[in-house]
Amino acid sequence: MNGATWHEAQSAPADLSGPDGWRDLAERFGTPTYVYDGDWLAGNLHALRAALHPALEVFFSLKSNPNRAVYDVLRSAGARAEVSSLAELRTVLDAGTDPADVVFLGPGKSAAEIEACVRAGLYAVVCESLPELALIDDAAARLGVRQRVLLRINPAYSVAGSRLTMGGKPRQFGIDEAAVPPAGALIRSYRHAVAAGVQVYMGTRILDHEVIVKNTAYVLRLAEHVAESTGIALDAVDIGGGLGVAYFDGEHDLDLDALAAGINPLVEDFARRHPGTRLLMESGRYLTAPGGTYLMRVRYIKESMGDRFAVADGGTHHHMAAVGIGSFVKRNFPVELLSRPVPPDAEAGPWTVAGPLCTPNDTVAKAVRLPDLAVGDLLGVRRSGAYGPSASPAYFLSHGYPAEVLVRRGTAYLVRRRDTVDDLLSRQATHPDLTAPALH
Ligand SMILES: *Cc1c(COP(=O)(O)O)cnc(C)c1O
Repeated sequence: MNGATWHEAQSAPADLSGPDGWRDLAERFGTPTYVYDGDWLAGNLHALRAALHPALEVFFSLKSNPNRAVYDVLRSAGARAEVSSLAELRTVLDAGTDPADVVFLGPGKSAAEIEACVRAGLYAVVCESLPELALIDDAAARLGVRQRVLLRINPAYSVAGSRLTMGGKPRQFGIDEAAVPPAGALIRSYRHAVAAGVQVYMGTRILDHEVIVKNTAYVLRLAEHVAESTGIALDAVDIGGGLGVAYFDGEHDLDLDALAAGINPLVEDFARRHPGTRLLMESGRYLTAPGGTYLMRVRYIKESMGDRFAVADGGTHHHMAAVGIGSFVKRNFPVELLSRPVPPDAEAGPWTVAGPLCTPNDTVAKAVRLPDLAVGDLLGVRRSGAYGPSASPAYFLSHGYPAEVLVRRGTAYLVRRRDTVDDLLSRQATHPDLTAPALH
C-alpha cells in the first residue's frame, strides 16, 4: 500500500451544548455538514465495553462511518476494526491499527483485496464461500504465509426482532450451515488458508436485548458444532452484533444492562470451555449513530395548500436513511431547531422539511412538530452518525459530499472538506470528436 494522503484537520473552539455553538459551527464550516460528537463516541464505547464481558472484543464496522477521525476516536477508546474494502483497510492500517485487531469481510472480495489482507497479515479474513477459500489459499501460498480464515456461516435459523434478518434464508453471505460438515475434508486440505474460527451475522437494527442474547447463544453453539463436524480449530468466534438504536416514535434504545446480563454468562461459560478462543463482536450503528447530527440551514419557507414547508440545504444526497428511500413507510428521524433557544411554551406545529433536490422524495421530515421556522434557522437531524453520506447518493444532482466536523474536548475539527464543483467535475471526460459535425 502506498503512503498516506491524510491532511491535518483545521480546528476551532466549539461547544455543542447550545445555540451559540451550533451557529458558530455553521458559520465556520458552512452547511449542510455532519457534526460528530467525539466525546460521545468515546464515552459510549467505554460504556459498552464496561458493560460487556471483558473477553468480548468490540470490532467497529467501518461501513457505518468510514471517516478516519471517527475511527481514530473509536480506536483510542478501544475499538478494533472490521473492514470491507481496500479504502477501509488502508484507513485502519494508516491509523496504526495492529493488523492482529483487523478482520476483513464481504461476499465479493476481489483478488486485490484478498492479497492486501494477506500482505498486511490481518488477524482473519472472513470467508463467505468455498471458492473464496481456494482463492485465499492461493494468495497466501504465493506470498509464502499462512492466513487465518473465519468461516462465515449462513445459519439455518432466523431471528425475529431484527429489521433485516440474515439467517434461515438463501443468501449471498456465508456458507450454509448444512453445507459445512460435508466440506470438512476440503476445508482442512488447504495448507495456506487456515480455517480456524466461525463468524455469523444475524441481522441489524436489533432493539430487543433478548434477540441478541438468543443469537449469541445460537452462534456459540453453532461454532462448537462447526469445529466438531469439520475438525477445524476455534481460534476465534465472531458473534456478529446488529445492536440497534432507536430512530422513530415508539422505538426504545437497547437496554445495555439487560443485554450484558444476558450475554455475559454465555461468554463466561464459553470462555471457560475455550480459554484460548478470541470472542469478537461487530458493531457499526450502535457505536456511531447517536453521536452524529446532520446540520442544515433553512433556505426558504413556503406554504402549499395549507401545509408549511421549510426548504433546507440538506437532503437525500447526504442522508438517504432519514429521507426513508427504500423504506416501506416514511418515518421521521428526530429533527430539532438548533440555532435559537426554543421557549418551553412555544407552539410546535406540523412542518414538512424538504431538501434542495428536484424530486418529491427529497423530504427529510413530514408533519414534524417544530416551532415557527424562519429563513436562516439551523435544523439538526439527530442520530445521524451511521450510514449517512457514505450510504447516500452523494452525486445525485451533483452537489457532492458534505463537510464533516468532529468535536472533541471543546474543539471542532474539519475531518472532511466539502466537495467542490471542481472535485465533482474533475473525474469526467469528453472528447472533441463528440461535437464534430456529422460527416453525412
Ligand atoms: C453491516 C454489517 C455490520 C454492522 O452492522 P450494524 O448494524 O451497523 O452494527 C456488522 N457485520 C456485518 C457482517 C455487516 O454486514
